[in-house]
Amino acid sequence: MKNINASIITIGDELLIGQTIDTNSAWIGQELNKIGVWLKRRVAVGDVWDDIWNALDAESKESDIIIITGGLGPTADDITKPLLCKYFGGKLIVNEDVLNHVKYLFDKVYRRPGPMLERNLKQAEVPDVCKVLHNARGTAPGMWFEKDGRIYVSLPGVPHEMKGLMTNEVLSRIPKYFDLPFIIHRTAFTMGTGESMIAEKIKDFETNLPEHIKLAYLPGYGMVKLRLTAKGDDKEKMEKELDEKFSVLKELVSEWLVTDKDENLATVVTKILKEKNKTIGTAESCTGGYIAHLITSNPGSSVGYKGSIISYANDVKEKILGVSDKTLRTVGAVSEETVIQMVKGAIEKLNVDFVVATSGIMGPDGGTDEKPVGTVWIAAGNKGEVETAKLAFRFDRERNIEMTSHTALNFLRKFILANT
Ligand code: AMP
Ligand code: MG
Repeated sequence: MKNINASIITIGDELLIGQTIDTNSAWIGQELNKIGVWLKRRVAVGDVWDDIWNALDAESKESDIIIITGGLGPTADDITKPLLCKYFGGKLIVNEDVLNHVKYLFDKVYRRPGPMLERNLKQAEVPDVCKVLHNARGTAPGMWFEKDGRIYVSLPGVPHEMKGLMTNEVLSRIPKYFDLPFIIHRTAFTMGTGESMIAEKIKDFETNLPEHIKLAYLPGYGMVKLRLTAKGDDKEKMEKELDEKFSVLKELVSEWLVTDKDENLATVVTKILKEKNKTIGTAESCTGGYIAHLITSNPGSSVGYKGSIISYANDVKEKILGVSDKTLRTVGAVSEETVIQMVKGAIEKLNVDFVVATSGIMGPDGGTDEKPVGTVWIAAGNKGEVETAKLAFRFDRERNIEMTSHTALNFLRKFILANT
């Protein structure tokens, strides 16, 4: 079966100067993948006629489907529509449906007083060589062109509008034009070792994978995701084969395996709490509530998560968590004794089954010879027992916080599993 490839062209100077992060491409890539279309390239260009034109020429050589976002606003910097009109040899005509929709939005939804501006009415103009895609969420319609067996879709840059159009108008239409394969994934999430170590461990497995199954390593903060992807046309057979391979893979990395689903660490912890009917809290110094944020970003976290005491300053550690003044004076806040006492204090104050605590030096300042930047103590415990670990990171402040938070949360996960 022939691969059906897609390219995304995102348009806008704001994407090039980093003022807007291109979230459209990531979302479109995921959605195309689900229906069996392989995203081959992503290109970003500014609001420049020749650059957009050349990108269209180049992507036409690569892909069967070209999705374009951006440049459809009513202002002079947005030139996608006239350009596509010329590119496909058409002329601009007023589309009555779009005109009525634009008028409706201005009268009834936006409730703008006075007559509509000429530039807004112009949004109802479309090339006569395209199929118009209804944009229920905004004034700029989507446009669908076909040429030499290829499909070109132009969508507004505003993510909410783009998503509405993709979901309602584009994704269901594509399979009518191409014979698409199935693309399926299985993802194993590991923590506690690096990708080189994993690669060593699964070397033979990787070498023996058939051509149609691909393995990807996706390293992140203290974790590595391993994704197996299969492409083909017999979905059932593929799923069976992929599941067999995935079982072997999971067995090989079992000592580091956190979950065999494509989900994040906080979700895994939340599920464990629900299943075991337990509660947790956090006592955070150097992570400043970041662990709490990771947990509460996850819907459903209230089932087991009760709260955090952000004891950033020593007097909060002392007065609220009951860390002893002597400990803070002698061994300091970044110490095993401190994190143990933080856990104990928080278990009592928050009235929870388990607590994880962090205390460390995130940088760039504050390091000493004895405790350089990146030195962190973490602890996880319940009423009876507390386990600790000393970590040493060598990153910038932001990454040190991320690494500490993820490592601590995983430490807590393991403690809960070992103690319930
Ligand atoms: P435009 O269609 O060019 O008028 O884009 C409207 C707005 O959508 C821009 O001001 C950006 O804030 C946003 N936008 C455009 N392209 C993207 C993109 N690729 N990812 C996320 N937001 C975007
Ligand atoms: Mg723009």
